[in-house]
Amino acid sequence: MERREIQTLHDRFSRPLRNLRVSVTDRCNLRCSYCMPEAEYTWLPRADVLTFEEIARVATVFADAGVDRIRLTGGEPLLRRDLPSLIRLLRRDDRIRDLALTTNGMLLAEQATALRAAGLHRLNVSLDTLRPDRFRALTRQDGLAAVLNGIAAAGDAGFTGLKLDCVVVRGVNDDEIVDLATFARSRGAEIRFIEYMDVGGATQWSMDRVVDRGAILQALELSFGAIEPLHEGGSAPAERFRLADGTTFGIIASTTTPFCATCDRSRLTADGHWFLCLYALQGIDLRTPLRNGASSAELRSIIATGWGARRDRGAEERLVLRERSTLVPLDGLRRDPHLEMHTRGG
Ligand code: SAM
Repeated sequence: MERREIQTLHDRFSRPLRNLRVSVTDRCNLRCSYCMPEAEYTWLPRADVLTFEEIARVATVFADAGVDRIRLTGGEPLLRRDLPSLIRLLRRDDRIRDLALTTNGMLLAEQATALRAAGLHRLNVSLDTLRPDRFRALTRQDGLAAVLNGIAAAGDAGFTGLKLDCVVVRGVNDDEIVDLATFARSRGAEIRFIEYMDVGGATQWSMDRVVDRGAILQALELSFGAIEPLHEGGSAPAERFRLADGTTFGIIASTTTPFCATCDRSRLTADGHWFLCLYALQGIDLRTPLRNGASSAELRSIIATGWGARRDRGAEERLVLRERSTLVPLDGLRRDPHLEMHTRGG
């Protein structure tokens, strides 16, 4: 694989380009009400979806530009056939020191061993409820048992440091915060509670459905006692805390306490569009130059120009809006599926 000198790029606010989220498919086998609530979707044309070799090529150019952490996501990444092959390709570049995957866990039980053997470092599993009937209502699938089996299989396959991601929605699962934290502790996993975000695709979002950081902390404090903030700094989206018994957990408060100032993340869609902010309405097309035979230096130059001009502070700009409702109306999402959270990768 082609290798060149690493030169970290910085944007207009001196934020480095470090983290890349790669969506390997826009398809999903769940229909979570906070992400994919509609009956029908406009999908990316199959011919546009990057091959594993194309993803690996682009990842090498991003590594040249300073990216050292990649997270595979989607859609549901485990729907993409033979994902371990992509993991093996990405692991050939030792500048990628952290290779992680975010999954809903539905297919994890059957794939955990192969993912681990291929060299995947870390796993995040989304888990919003422990109640089968509620899982069905939230996702339109009868799948809680499969997800719980997947979480168990991850441990059996040798994954450590498992994270469980829970989007808290008022009136949906906010009465399970303590149960989910207790479950995570019993599995040796770290739970991260995520504020409901008004991203593209979240067409049922409203501010009164957001359970904010303070309310999440209050619910946990009532059951577990004093909570100690860990004050770690850095660019991680989750603020971490510790309970008196040593259990740690995280809160991702993007809706009410944005962390744009330290955001070093960008996202590559399955069809090769590069988005510099979760809230950005436009991305940069890398697929066309890639398929037209651009050299690595040419691709790197597109990336350097894009990142160098980056001024996005999407979550902060949403915060100061007086009238805050969904980011993109439904007809806009139908016209351009790149605006969907499930296309750009959560
Ligand atoms: N299918 C995989 C999964 O479920 O983890 C990966 C893709 S999913 C889009 C990635 C993450 O985005 C999940 O943890 C999901 O809960 C989160 N997410 C989706 N919509 C969200 C919203 N409106 N607010 C906050 N988080 C959201």
